[in-house]
Amino acid sequence: MEREGEVGLAAVRAAARLCQAVQTTMLNGGGAGVTSKQDGSPVTVADFGSQAVVNRAIREAFPDDVIVAEEDSAALRDAGGGQLSAVTRFVCGQVGFADRERVCDWIDLGAGEPSDRFWVLDPIDGTKGFLRREQYAVALALVEDGQVRWGFLACPGLSYRGVRGVVFAAGRGQETQSFTLGGAPLGSVRVAATPDLTRAVLVESVESAHTDHAASATLREAIGSTAEPLRMDSQAKYAAVSSGQADIYLRLPNPKTPNYREHIWDHAAGAIIVEEAGGRVTDCYGRPLDWTQGRRLRKNVGIMTTSGRLHERLVSVLEPVLESMTRGAAPAQQTPTAEVLASA
Ligand code: AMP
Ligand code: MG
Repeated sequence: MEREGEVGLAAVRAAARLCQAVQTTMLNGGGAGVTSKQDGSPVTVADFGSQAVVNRAIREAFPDDVIVAEEDSAALRDAGGGQLSAVTRFVCGQVGFADRERVCDWIDLGAGEPSDRFWVLDPIDGTKGFLRREQYAVALALVEDGQVRWGFLACPGLSYRGVRGVVFAAGRGQETQSFTLGGAPLGSVRVAATPDLTRAVLVESVESAHTDHAASATLREAIGSTAEPLRMDSQAKYAAVSSGQADIYLRLPNPKTPNYREHIWDHAAGAIIVEEAGGRVTDCYGRPLDWTQGRRLRKNVGIMTTSGRLHERLVSVLEPVLESMTRGAAPAQQTPTAEVLASA
């Protein structure tokens, strides 16, 4: 494996260990270790710790590389000294001694701006799933010249080939590979053979605020799918499609936030993992994802991911559903205002 592959894989594995340690020692009942961000979403000791551990690993291996990550230490400092002490303790558990300032510095390495070559990190994607002890992912990708080159998803709650807790890794032009959280190889990962559409399994967000459950039910009806949809948090949904546990991952803007544009850290790792496993990823209009638009996929709306050959068919079935849905929303190509983005 190239150096990028080795470093990325080791980094998300260390971060997943940290998340599991927080889960077993801090999150037993009570809300210790959990605070709310300005947008009301939860953030935990593990989100900050995971980001510190991954950023440190990347900085050490690739000192000149830009990192774009979801969290920053301002939110951690706002949460009070107890939270920072706890984060520091868990980070030390993975990397040896570091003081609080050092840990904050590592977290803030993630404040980079997307450029020709940058790493993009969601230290815990699906924080709500993490708190429910269901699905979450440490999601890391390398974007180069507008293309995702590498993607890593550590999914401690996902079962694959009889193992609970897996890491999927993909380099462009190479097959998606799977590993245990301990690093043992589990082999290459392939999407399901194109199923009879009526039996296609759809996977979508648990959170109704993050997608349009009603519209996906309409789509399922239109293709005659009788299978119940799977619902899981995080990019574990991409892992599910890449490994044949689901055939379609659909993310349609919730009617309450029609102008929401997706964050790159919620999709970069998952997208390459599905593509290198033989699947396809576009937005819900069938357009390729454009990674050159900063921290959001400003030129895209929603996400449509499939095991491949049924992709075009689904895009055309979805078209009229979208047309009725998007009345009143900003045209797809229009860049939403900062105000809209902040409220989304
Ligand atoms: P999921 O686990 O699929 O529900 O997605 C979690 C991600 O949804 C979070 O990391 C947020 O970045 C993102 N998110 C927040 N608000 C919205 C929204 N209104 N529409 C779509 N995604 C959102
Ligand atoms: Mg996320």
